[in-house]
Amino acid sequence: MNRLGDQIRDCRLCAARFAATQTRHSPRPVVWFRPSARLLIAGQAPGMRVHQSGKPFNDPSGERLRAWLGLSEAEFYDQSRVAIVPMAFCFPGYNAKGSDLPPPRICGETWHDLVMQELGKIDLTILVGGYAHKYHLGVKTGVTDTVKAWRDHAPRLFALPHPSWRNTAWLKKNPWFAAEVLPELRAQVQRVIND
Ligand code: SF4
Repeated sequence: MNRLGDQIRDCRLCAARFAATQTRHSPRPVVWFRPSARLLIAGQAPGMRVHQSGKPFNDPSGERLRAWLGLSEAEFYDQSRVAIVPMAFCFPGYNAKGSDLPPPRICGETWHDLVMQELGKIDLTILVGGYAHKYHLGVKTGVTDTVKAWRDHAPRLFALPHPSWRNTAWLKKNPWFAAEVLPELRAQVQRVIND
């Protein structure tokens, strides 16, 4: 692991915030990048299952994301080629309705620029979910409009909905995503992975 990765792994900035949540958990930063990566997956924050395993997208969302990208598990988890950098490196806890809390802003403010400097040569950026869209693109549009405008950013960047089961209805309602976006996305992922 690189030095910056070690620093993030040791980060406890949100200890008090997490201790005040329902789960009263401690920070467990899930760090998954190396400077050689060319493909960046910029997500939201780990869920409980990832918090427990310490492996990003090690859950049903990850299975759907790998299918969207056309990547095997071995390719997806090859840190020399793929960096997975969420808006927050730790599970933020649950809100009163049992949904994940938003990623703490302090995480992006503290670490994001340093990580991006370390990852100097990203060829393809994949933004997963609305928080990542807003942060990386500075957009104020909702997820559907941002994803629909994919041609504005392709072929070097794709904004995707979150692959959570909560978005299964969204996928059914927006068949253009699978028909138009995914084939081009997979082609670009293959280009970068095999480069
Ligand atoms: S979420 Fe980010 S800032 Fe907060 S403890 Fe984890 S690594 Fe540190």
